[in-house]
Amino acid sequence: MSDKFPDRIDPLVFAERRGTVAGQLALAQFERLSDYLVERDGAVDVRLEFDKEGKRVVLSGQIVGTVQLECQSCLQGVAWPLDIRFKLAVVATPTEAERLEDYEPIVLDDDKISLHAVVEDEILLAIPDFPRHEHRCLERNSSSDNDYTDSRTKADNPFSVLAKLKKTGD
Ligand SMILES: [Zn+2]
Repeated sequence: MSDKFPDRIDPLVFAERRGTVAGQLALAQFERLSDYLVERDGAVDVRLEFDKEGKRVVLSGQIVGTVQLECQSCLQGVAWPLDIRFKLAVVATPTEAERLEDYEPIVLDDDKISLHAVVEDEILLAIPDFPRHEHRCLERNSSSDNDYTDSRTKADNPFSVLAKLKKTGD
């Protein structure tokens, strides 16, 4: 699946011809991300476009897919949809990266960058520290954390209060 999707590339070469890399990347290959996933199957759709702005090489990307995170309330899997858009500027040194203002930097390593690492970094940035189900997954735990969800549900559906009373009574 991922053999069509290159990893280490020279971004300048891609930027010169305004190249695009698109395809699927399997979640299983992301080692740092795996700590956060309850399910490592699946893949994300990735599209990366290279361009030049003046002398600067920029990389615009989109990552779409769903990851299974661990709900911090009930510790069950929670499907977390991703639709990440980002724009990075390629720099040669960390010093240059510090001077960058408009973009997040990506620093060249031996004139190359790892596209897989870029994708993994962006996913790690996008997933929340404390993912939770949108519904109240722990009925018995009526912590104040759930108040927001509660009031929203009530407003949307007046019968949800009844449904909840019923559930609690079971
Ligand atoms: Zn939950």
